[in-house]
Amino acid sequence: MTRDWNRRTQLVHEGSRRSQYGEMAEAIFLTQGFAYDSAEQAEARFQHAGADEFIYARYGNPTTRMFEERIAAIEGTEDAFATASGMAAVNGALVSMLRAGDHVVSSRALFGSCLYILEEVLVRFGVRVTFVDGTDLDQWRAAVVPGTKAVFFESISNPTLEVIDIKSVSEIAHTAGALAVVDNVFATPIFSRAVDQGADVVVYSTTKHIDGQGRALGGVICGTVPFIRKVVEPYMKHTGGSMSPFTAWIMLNGMVTLDLRCRAMAGSAEKIAGVLAGDSRLSRVIFPGLPSHPQHALTLRQMGSGGTLLAFDIKGGKEAAFRFLNALKIIRISNNLGDARTIATHPATTTHQRLPEDQKARLGITPGLVRLSVGLEDSDDLIADLDRALDVI
Ligand SMILES: *Cc1c(COP(=O)(O)O)cnc(C)c1O
Repeated sequence: MTRDWNRRTQLVHEGSRRSQYGEMAEAIFLTQGFAYDSAEQAEARFQHAGADEFIYARYGNPTTRMFEERIAAIEGTEDAFATASGMAAVNGALVSMLRAGDHVVSSRALFGSCLYILEEVLVRFGVRVTFVDGTDLDQWRAAVVPGTKAVFFESISNPTLEVIDIKSVSEIAHTAGALAVVDNVFATPIFSRAVDQGADVVVYSTTKHIDGQGRALGGVICGTVPFIRKVVEPYMKHTGGSMSPFTAWIMLNGMVTLDLRCRAMAGSAEKIAGVLAGDSRLSRVIFPGLPSHPQHALTLRQMGSGGTLLAFDIKGGKEAAFRFLNALKIIRISNNLGDARTIATHPATTTHQRLPEDQKARLGITPGLVRLSVGLEDSDDLIADLDRALDVI
């Protein structure tokens, strides 16, 4: 790896491998397997596959390997394993390291599918899980005990954008010898310093900012070489959650523009949040970059940016929120995020519909709450679209 390059250079070049043709763009090695020169070579490779030696696409592939090296360099971890989706990454990171009787502490404010893995899957296999309010360090301190194997949290929670103190929670985890596993999707690899803050394992849904154009599902687990190759890889390669070479190629191309896109989107998000902050048609505006956000100082320390997402509560509840959404012209109603197209989501009736009402209330998922993933359109056009739609209610 070429760690002395700066990140913008790594995003363009890191991990690139060229065939004998010297192609400029990364090749898609759309092959399930690899032929050996001899039976002896096949035997040797099954005993030990070197860095540029491949066996079967479920185990690894040159295009996938290029993506893994590029994201590991950006994240600042020794290695990475690319997965078929963000959920394959969350599941793989946790299930590969846990066994019956282990204990996990997790923040409660999670993406619905993450909650399913912790609440339903792990528990079914005898892993004990304790949920805490991720922003309350005392709750983490009380919950992490000897025998805790992992703590898990989204560094910025979905959809209410609570920011969790990666450094402090990682320190608490380490006092018990537990690994800090961070789902860092909302922070993006560009604004992430999760590993510098002490996180051990960082997980992304690459479906979001890394693809950035809403084309392909993907995920990645970043960590040390022993964790990725001795714990994660055996689990992933035998259970079938690896990323396809075609997806890896899309993600490699997404990485090239990732820094430019995230910075432009975060700039627009900040501008939009500033405009909406004083709007009388809203009862609250949540954006980690606003001084009114409860973890504003932590956000600046941890990310140096407020990120690319904001949320706001429309006065008038669900009915008003639906009228607002239906009046949008540029902004699309959908549930992805990190896309170049600005997306508005109504969490209470879509991404978090499954949750019981009392849990929605506890997590701040109110009937009027709208989550906005800010894209690459002109921010003045977005502000005009929001303003026009808010007038309709
Ligand atoms: C989208 C998302 C996931 C799941 O990723 P997929 O690629 O959809 O499987 C996990 N965690 C967070 C925080 C997400 O936003």
